[in-house]
Amino acid sequence: MKFRRVKGTRDVLPREAAARRELEEKVFELLAPAGFHPVLTPTFEHYELYKRSTGESSDIVIKEMYRFQDMGGRDLALRPEGTPSVMRAVLENSIKLPARLWYVMPMFRQDKPQKGRYREHTQIGAEIIGEGDPQIDAELVKIGFDLFTSIGIHEMFIELNSIGCRECRPGYIKKLKDFLVQHADELCDDCRLRAERNPLRVFDCKQKSCQRILSDAPLQTDYLCPGCADHFSQVKAGLDIFQIPYEENPRLVRGLDYYSRTVVEFKSRELGAQDTVCGGGRYDYLMQEMGGPATPAIGFAFGVERALLASRGEDVFSSVQPGIPLLLLPLGDKAKPYCLDLLFKLREKGIGVQAEFRSGGLSRQLKRADSRNAEKVLIVGDKEIESGSFIVRDMGTGEQEELTFDELISGLVNT
Ligand SMILES: [Zn+2]
Ligand SMILES: [Zn+2]
Repeated sequence: MKFRRVKGTRDVLPREAAARRELEEKVFELLAPAGFHPVLTPTFEHYELYKRSTGESSDIVIKEMYRFQDMGGRDLALRPEGTPSVMRAVLENSIKLPARLWYVMPMFRQDKPQKGRYREHTQIGAEIIGEGDPQIDAELVKIGFDLFTSIGIHEMFIELNSIGCRECRPGYIKKLKDFLVQHADELCDDCRLRAERNPLRVFDCKQKSCQRILSDAPLQTDYLCPGCADHFSQVKAGLDIFQIPYEENPRLVRGLDYYSRTVVEFKSRELGAQDTVCGGGRYDYLMQEMGGPATPAIGFAFGVERALLASRGEDVFSSVQPGIPLLLLPLGDKAKPYCLDLLFKLREKGIGVQAEFRSGGLSRQLKRADSRNAEKVLIVGDKEIESGSFIVRDMGTGEQEELTFDELISGLVNT
């Protein structure tokens, strides 16, 4: 074959596309009553936006971003995550705050392709901008929990941490750095680098030897300032109201520079080792970093592919074409225009129907119906047109029933 898709990209086939639409509708149903409005931002932005917001020391900006120059010499990047561009849009369009926005947008990251991770993938995200109370954190976590439960992801639980604020985080990071320097010999190369650039990220290391050392590392939760400690305990009290299963994970940091205070991951025990469905957190300094006024904000985002895998299983990605609920089988030339007309009368009733217009006798038509994955067929020959009674055959069971035209129209509505 001459053309293949670019490494790390994927085609969304009809089954998955349909599941995506359902997912988006569920998300809309859940978020709309909570005041969220949809938003879309451009696929590419100035590189500087992500450098400034996602962070110069983040893996995304260092290793994963698609950065390119356009013909006007602009330094651009394909959007690797949604929050920075949504915040830019809020600032640039003077959106009145507080605001609640959500999006479904493709994201681009040039990291190593691995199972379930692609260089282009779709994320759904929700952001609450301009509200800083701990109750808001609890509200958003509850919304996320309900959302994943409603799309069919079971055994959900939440991991929660506070990573402090400008007051208490620098002191803690210094403590952590000191600890890492002391144990530098025992850490992997990546962690030694992280220790200098972005010490919090050491907690993401999957190496067993590093994990062992880090089990003695100082934890942010032991160094929270009174403001952050109070915020964190109110978030937890909020979640207690809803009786949502959560665990404190003092090693949860999230991979982005702009988070502060509450960070959260939504997980499912059904998913095995890679159990995270969604991540999020508070980012009270981001707007200011981007040149706007100090504005508290919090959000979460999740990959659509992963959520579908978790809720629907592998089947959803199958290339098998979805079936045809009803296929009309005209027999003879008179039946063809009759079926053409009938198609639209049935569709008007909401029935999913197509017709097999290629010529052929009954057995040939039935074979075609089978290969087209028809669930039911309607046999229409001269005799049927004259008598006004039709045979509907269930292709799965082989059962047949005879229906009059009116029965046909009304009877199929409920199937
Ligand atoms: Zn603090
Ligand atoms: Zn390591």
